[in-house]
Amino acid sequence: MSRPFDLLIRDGLVVDGTARPARPADVASDAGRLTVLPPGSGAAAARVVDAGGLVVAPGFIDAHTHSDGVAILDGGRDRELVRAAVLQGVTTEICGNCGSSLFPALPERLDAMRAEAEISFGGDVGAYPDFAGFAAAHAAVPRINHLVSLVGHGTLRAGVVGPVDRPVSPAELRTMCELLDRSLAQGAAGLSSGLIYAPGTYADTGELVALAAVAARHGKPYVTHLRDEMSRVEEALEEAVEISRRSGAALHVSHHKTAGRHGWGRTARTLPRIAGLRAGGMDVTCDVYPYTAGSTALAAMLPPWANDGGLAALTARLRDPEARDRMRLAIAEGVPGWENTVGNGGWDRISVACAPRHPTAEGRTIAELAAAAAADPLDVAADLLVAERGEVTIISHSMVEEDVRRVLAAPYAVIGSDGVPKPGGRPHPRWAGTFPRVLGRYVRELGLLSLEEAVHKMTRLTAMRFGLAGRGVIRDGAHADLVVFDPAAVADRATFTEPLLPPSGVAAVIVGGIVVVRDGEETGARPGTVLTP
Ligand SMILES: [Zn+2]
Repeated sequence: MSRPFDLLIRDGLVVDGTARPARPADVASDAGRLTVLPPGSGAAAARVVDAGGLVVAPGFIDAHTHSDGVAILDGGRDRELVRAAVLQGVTTEICGNCGSSLFPALPERLDAMRAEAEISFGGDVGAYPDFAGFAAAHAAVPRINHLVSLVGHGTLRAGVVGPVDRPVSPAELRTMCELLDRSLAQGAAGLSSGLIYAPGTYADTGELVALAAVAARHGKPYVTHLRDEMSRVEEALEEAVEISRRSGAALHVSHHKTAGRHGWGRTARTLPRIAGLRAGGMDVTCDVYPYTAGSTALAAMLPPWANDGGLAALTARLRDPEARDRMRLAIAEGVPGWENTVGNGGWDRISVACAPRHPTAEGRTIAELAAAAAADPLDVAADLLVAERGEVTIISHSMVEEDVRRVLAAPYAVIGSDGVPKPGGRPHPRWAGTFPRVLGRYVRELGLLSLEEAVHKMTRLTAMRFGLAGRGVIRDGAHADLVVFDPAAVADRATFTEPLLPPSGVAAVIVGGIVVVRDGEETGARPGTVLTP
């Protein structure tokens, strides 16, 4: 008789990640690799999970997170912020998005980068010269699930030339290309940009083409938060297409949306454009989260020049009444090439998510706070930013449901939470609710997607985009990252007022063949690693 398996998940309905129809099967794991067995196999195993009536799927891969530092801050303890991803069934997080990662930088810039990262992550998460340094820092703290990181273009730019509003010199660009090349060779998964954020927004198209060409040489994608997701979203998409064409890198559009009153409905144009590019042979995909509200930094509501020089320079400018007046004017009148969220929506759509020194502001809109203080909204925002050293997270109710559904249904759109886990406040519930929300609301309640399609967008399609070989699929020899859930009950519970409430209906989560969550509770196992595609 053969040796027993480490783990057997029996009598489940297997949704294997490829979008093929679900089928009954037993799934076994041995030394972290899967074997698919006929249903009722009766195979012997050291541990058995009974999945009768439940779906067995590959562990979800979160295509888009900002969880770069949260496990380092947590130090391997068990805070609800770290747990939120894995309790949904997320077995791999892809961080380093929107142009922001914790590496790379020239040695002489590391101290400044570490100080800025400490403010934006709400604790000392470090700053690293390259991907290897970042991976070593994560390897030193126990992890529940796996982590993958992109190289952030904004970080790369800050790490070579500083947080300044000027073009890079040819020599600086060469240095940026070398640092990027080294981190990609060490195992970073691609290049990301965030072209509404300082300092990424100071880059012209040519700078991004040169860097994306380095990613192309590694066969890795250019992943971008477009320069505009509102009134000029189509022009911003064309810039990304140009970068992809000229560099040869595959294109992945982050959290695709068309927001603000001038953007609503525009997915009816952007999605056919992407589909047409794909039909013409271009490798282009996107990710999406299932909410009509976004979340970002309050400082990103200000014109790009306001952020020139980093957080200290921003707060100095915010203390200057004349500079405030210029910001007010820029928001009222717009600035060519700048997204201008408030001009497109209004301060009544911007609510405070995290402002640790002002907990009473959390959950209220800037317009409400201004009315209560009989003050101008820009002054309220500016005072808040000064008191919080430039770092306030906001939630922006900027999208319409019709656009969200259209993107979710696109066959090349994968699921990414865009979660921003940091201590304190009321973060966007997407960090704790994205995956069960797609399965509960958009699959079961609304029928927008089949279960097989939705799981494909959470697993295999994402693994293929980011080069994660042998993951996101249930087949013989694949990595044993799995989630077991009840398709009739799975649902998100996280809300804007209780943003970290864990989901219902997730029965078990397995990472590398080890059960890490059982009936909504952590087992305490820490088999997660940093993956290097
Ligand atoms: Zn973004």
